[in-house]
Amino acid sequence: MRITFWGVRGSIPTPGRDTAEIGGNTSCVEVRAGKLAIILDGGTGLRLLGQKLLKEMPVTAHIFFSHVHWDHIQGFPFFAPAFVPGNTIHLYGGNDVSRTLEDTLKGQMDYPSFPVALGQLGAHMTFRDMREGQVVTLDDGEGHELTVRTTRGNHPNGVWVYRIDHRGKSVVYATDTEHYAVVDPKLVHISHKSDVLIYDSQYTPEEYKTKLGWGHSTFEEGVKIARDAQVKKFVLYHHDPNQSDAMVRDKERRSKEVFENSLAAYEGLIIEP
Ligand SMILES: [Zn+2]
Ligand SMILES: [Zn+2]
Repeated sequence: MRITFWGVRGSIPTPGRDTAEIGGNTSCVEVRAGKLAIILDGGTGLRLLGQKLLKEMPVTAHIFFSHVHWDHIQGFPFFAPAFVPGNTIHLYGGNDVSRTLEDTLKGQMDYPSFPVALGQLGAHMTFRDMREGQVVTLDDGEGHELTVRTTRGNHPNGVWVYRIDHRGKSVVYATDTEHYAVVDPKLVHISHKSDVLIYDSQYTPEEYKTKLGWGHSTFEEGVKIARDAQVKKFVLYHHDPNQSDAMVRDKERRSKEVFENSLAAYEGLIIEP
């Protein structure tokens, strides 16, 4: 399994000198396993991943959306492989919002917000709205199975947390989720003994004090899950747009003090568990 980070920022893209090292693109992570290309979220990082995939045509990709807030879907209209006939894109997601995943993705491309409608894209696309606890099983093309499990996180309008397992390796993608007084038993359960936990570490514990109920968390709370679930590597993700490179590095340093195998996600980071 090979995990590549294409966008690690939360809420809104943050280009600029102070964020160049960590990167300013929003949520997008690529997981390659066997011949499978799994994509977690379609934030602006998806555009760059699309450029890379153009060299591997015909592309078959499985995009799992945690939810449909802007910072998780905004790269999709710029995902070049979706424009090319012969490619196949499977899209998974949806949640408690009023529309299906397909309707939401269609909505962001509606006239006059975007010149090309979803239905005009050349690739073959399938849409699948997920249910809590659902397991998606995919053939890796090399004689093994990959599974994607789901559970709900805690976020306005809902969010899916995903766990991917392949040949004894696993990664949990838990972005845009807020902690409460008790460590979330669902997140501990789905993270159990995973190799990598990618977790919403948008705020420092100090910043969080003024952001209660905004649907985001801290490295301090994520580490509690990592410990309880015996996770091997903890990855701070979905950095706040107001955080400079130095501030993200400081979060990482503080996280390492309480959980040694901590790492702040940055654009271009590759993890091979
Ligand atoms: Zn977000
Ligand atoms: Zn969100």
